Amino acid sequence: MPHPLLRPIVFFSCLTVALPAASELKPLVEAKVNAEYDSLEAIYKHLHAHPELSFMEVNTAALLAKELRALGFEVTEKVGNTGVVGVLKNGPGPTVLVRADMDALPIKEATGLPYASTAVVKDLSGNEQSAMHACAHDTHVTGMIGTARVLASLKDRWSGTLVFIGQPAEEISGGARAMLADGLYTRFPKPDYALALHTWAGLPAGVIGYGEGPFLAGSTGVDIVVRGVSGHGSSPHLAKDPVVLAAEIVGALQTIVSREIKPGTTAVVTVGSIHGGTKRNIIPEEVKLDLTLRAFDDQVIQQMIASIRRICAGFGVAAGLPTDRLPVVTLVADSTGVTSNEAMLTRRLAGVFTEWLGADRVQQFPAVTAAEDFSFYGKTTDHVPTTLWFIGATAPEKFMEAKLTGVPVPSNHNFGFAPVPEPTLKAAVTSMSAAVLDLLAKP
Ligand SMILES: [Zn+2]
Ligand SMILES: [Zn+2]
Repeated sequence: MPHPLLRPIVFFSCLTVALPAASELKPLVEAKVNAEYDSLEAIYKHLHAHPELSFMEVNTAALLAKELRALGFEVTEKVGNTGVVGVLKNGPGPTVLVRADMDALPIKEATGLPYASTAVVKDLSGNEQSAMHACAHDTHVTGMIGTARVLASLKDRWSGTLVFIGQPAEEISGGARAMLADGLYTRFPKPDYALALHTWAGLPAGVIGYGEGPFLAGSTGVDIVVRGVSGHGSSPHLAKDPVVLAAEIVGALQTIVSREIKPGTTAVVTVGSIHGGTKRNIIPEEVKLDLTLRAFDDQVIQQMIASIRRICAGFGVAAGLPTDRLPVVTLVADSTGVTSNEAMLTRRLAGVFTEWLGADRVQQFPAVTAAEDFSFYGKTTDHVPTTLWFIGATAPEKFMEAKLTGVPVPSNHNFGFAPVPEPTLKAAVTSMSAAVLDLLAKP
């Protein structure tokens, strides 16, 4: 059997019929995208104004389920908590999984857009939070609906099975694991390929960014509790001060990347949160540090974890702490591995995007240290080839402005991140439709 990633080679003769190429399908897809655009923009603006936090995406999931069902997908809800699975069987051929993540972030939006979110919603713990689609997962859900409409309208032009999933809780790296644990690969057709796109502030709107191999970093959360012996602020000699020790540890952690990791290797250690103490004249009992680690190699993450443990224990001993009061280092459950794009699949789709969108709108993009739980779909024993590409979302003139002012364009997760809807959504729908049409081309 030929490798499924290789396109059949067509030897032209007077009897041979060429495969349906971009030139044939592209105008049909473009016409459909244009016809659907107003409706898609309305859905996008509705989702943008109504963000829901991780594992709380009830209304977003219901909307996606309704749209897929209306197009003939067989839809199952509540897969992996709030996840949606839509299956469309359309004859023999491979199975393609397409993933859209659905959750928003606990950020108060400050874009000034007329459809900006003012929502205050409950998080998983029941706390009220301002919420915003600051990672543009609303464009992913809308893009999935658009792609489903395109593919449903062109059913006679492709053959195979679609598995479209609305995934919860990407932002806390829990949703992919939850859907897989709930039988994504056993209760539904197992994919031959898994595809995702992610809207990206660092590219001009409508431009595709792709990359082979490691594309997004592995991410591990580490919690450190620096314990001391509390006492009166006036009498530090009678206490062991965890504030000073935490400060020393934060400083020492900076030497992991600069002194221990081989130069040229990507590695990040960030202490994103430090909390301790209640009052100026009390030496507190403990100080808490929350860290995130990033690398493009899971081994490098392991090396950083070992260094953190060594530094914490060593500085604790140096501070004269008793052995039962040394800092406690815990790994956080929301870690993800490196998102690595399967080379042959990525190369093939990069060719498809270039054919469909033109070389000026498709660029090879360097790996970034953001992390994604999409990596889990390729890390089961099934070894499904996966690839994720970026869709640019920022107005090109904003990059010029940023160069002049020195103020960077708002990135993903920034309260000012405001994708330009039309080029972003159209590129999302067109690139995903083109990818699926290529993978499920009729022989
Ligand atoms: Zn995000
Ligand atoms: Zn995201």
